[in-house]
Amino acid sequence: MKKALVTGAGGFIAHHLIKRLKRENYWVRGADIKQPEFSKSSADEFKILDLRESSNCEQAVKHPNGFDEVYHLAADMGGMGFIHSAACDIMRNSALINIHMINAAIHSGIKRYFFSSSACIYRDMKIGEPEMTEEGAYPAMPDNEYGWEKLYAERMALAYGKQYGFTVRIARFQNCFGPEGTWKGGREKAPAAICRKVAEAEDGGTIEVWGDGAAVRSYTYVDDMVDGIFRLMQSNLEGPTNIGNPEYVSVNELVSIVAKVANKKIKVKHIDGPVGVESRNFSNNKIYSICWKAKFSTEDGIRLTYPWVESQVKADKLK
Ligand code: NAD
Repeated sequence: MKKALVTGAGGFIAHHLIKRLKRENYWVRGADIKQPEFSKSSADEFKILDLRESSNCEQAVKHPNGFDEVYHLAADMGGMGFIHSAACDIMRNSALINIHMINAAIHSGIKRYFFSSSACIYRDMKIGEPEMTEEGAYPAMPDNEYGWEKLYAERMALAYGKQYGFTVRIARFQNCFGPEGTWKGGREKAPAAICRKVAEAEDGGTIEVWGDGAAVRSYTYVDDMVDGIFRLMQSNLEGPTNIGNPEYVSVNELVSIVAKVANKKIKVKHIDGPVGVESRNFSNNKIYSICWKAKFSTEDGIRLTYPWVESQVKADKLK
């Protein structure tokens, strides 16, 4: 039985990843500063640890028989609102976590290490620009500090891999969404925020959306993302690899999809707010080479996510 450590196990993607690893018959230890918010972790063991501390990272990777794989997803992160208001926290906390975790992993003899990077490491793109491959990250010009910190952590993971001769896999995630993702409180991302606003609105009502709604993004359903992470970790793909749904939609189109799924007529009021880049258009050819493809369209994913967010909104009202 393979053994895996998953960091960020109290968070959205890692929580789903652990379910997948259990289906693949792994023994899993989860580590996070908090427990998952919405349902119990499937991890065999869960350690509450602040991974900004090097001694806690050493504790996380310590096992009598050693871990075969580390999936490192812990980070101080959130949607655009959070990214634009907490640049110092993001840069300090995530850098500390990333530095200490890879150092602890290498010194405990881990053979395979996964790092979750982000499409935020890329520069802003114009709508309709040709697809950008992974190499297009350089010369680097991320739009925000979260992206710069991820880029630094990518380079650190690659440097450790090279110097110590161990296998590093890096995924650059597009936006990920699904049930049990943060849906309120300021760290939520666009799909969850729009699902919440539509769930709270009356049929025929109006929701507020930051910016003019023209910004274009790709949204990847969490089961697809987890499948990509697992396949990438088992593969021979070197260097950072994009993982994302090839379907690009504007924020206005995303609102229409959510309204359709909710079966509501929704009007949009555009207000000032942090929007992020205008557009993204990335090549997924590298991850396609290991037979991964997104199975869920944006609408498929929203059909699975909206009812969950709606149930959270209703439960919240009863509190
Ligand atoms: P999340 O916020 O739900 O999960 C991150 C987890 O890290 C949280 O549970 C948090 O408690 C934990 N964490 C933060 N500080 C910690 C600390 N000091 N010690 C221990 N744990 C700590 O985020 P997510 O959406 O599941 O993202 C997982 C990873 O994927 C992150 O590295 C994120 O940057 C990356 N990513 C996510 C997306 C997305 O759309 N969700 C897109 C690109 C990249």
